[in-house]
Amino acid sequence: MKLIIGSHVSYTKDDGLLGSVKEALSYGENTFMFYTGAPQNTYRAPIDKSKTEEAIKLMEKEGIDIKDVIIHAPYIINLATANEEKFNFAVNFLKQEVKRARELNIDKIVLHPGSHVGIGEEKGLENIIKGLNLVLDEKNGPIICLETMAGKGTELGTTFKQINTIIKNVKNNNRLMVCLDTCHLNDAGYDVKNFDSLLEEFDKIVGLEKIGCIHINDSKNEIASHKDRHENIGLGTIGFDNLIKIIYHEKLKEIPKILETPYISIDGGKDRTYPPYKFEIEMIRNKKYNENILEDIRNYYK
Ligand code: FE
Ligand code: FE
Ligand code: ZN
Repeated sequence: MKLIIGSHVSYTKDDGLLGSVKEALSYGENTFMFYTGAPQNTYRAPIDKSKTEEAIKLMEKEGIDIKDVIIHAPYIINLATANEEKFNFAVNFLKQEVKRARELNIDKIVLHPGSHVGIGEEKGLENIIKGLNLVLDEKNGPIICLETMAGKGTELGTTFKQINTIIKNVKNNNRLMVCLDTCHLNDAGYDVKNFDSLLEEFDKIVGLEKIGCIHINDSKNEIASHKDRHENIGLGTIGFDNLIKIIYHEKLKEIPKILETPYISIDGGKDRTYPPYKFEIEMIRNKKYNENILEDIRNYYK
């Protein structure tokens, strides 16, 4: 079966998209996800056009379909906010991000729907809808994938019903899809170990055709913990076999799957950590858990 798999990779001002492609290839990936700048702030450098062109050539050569590549919007963007200044800032930033996606030839942007910060679910959802209508003011262009959230604090997009409310009330909702995050689903209270019935429920409320991306993460916490702490594949409460079932699910084979699992520390310290993706992807391709993965990662990067 065709498997479209990658991970979060870096994007730097100097190397641009070319650096991201090279990093993805170094892990054996055929797709990837990146922030167009630092995830925690909204400063964005201009895009280097020649690096983008080089990146596209390299993707064509190496068999990465750019349609599977994903941008993640910075997580401090909050469309649900009641603060007018913050709301306008979020809308304008997202408009810029849509423009950058166009420049980079990327079709999909993953977005955390937002947190209502005390004004309540209904008003928060209304603000998100209003914001998305302002951002998606044209019929054509990159698609925004609303990420399913863990329900930490006052996060919205924690239930399929909330996701559906947003989608059905946005005018150009042909430009809206969903990004399922396995850790977030678990932490929100969905039983990802019973993925067929989860998909059935999603299909009834939102529609399977709306799935645009899947984040594959194990979770450090029990179901319904509302925590949002990702764990390496096979080391969390979801487990390797359950994640493999999701990754190889017949109904999801066309959907890009992205790992956002934590970096591994070599000496137990926090200052030197290394990406697990090359080894996690190898395990996923083999459909077999590697008992020595942590050791293998440490040896590889030593
Ligand atoms: Fe996310
Ligand atoms: Fe995610
Ligand atoms: Zn998360």
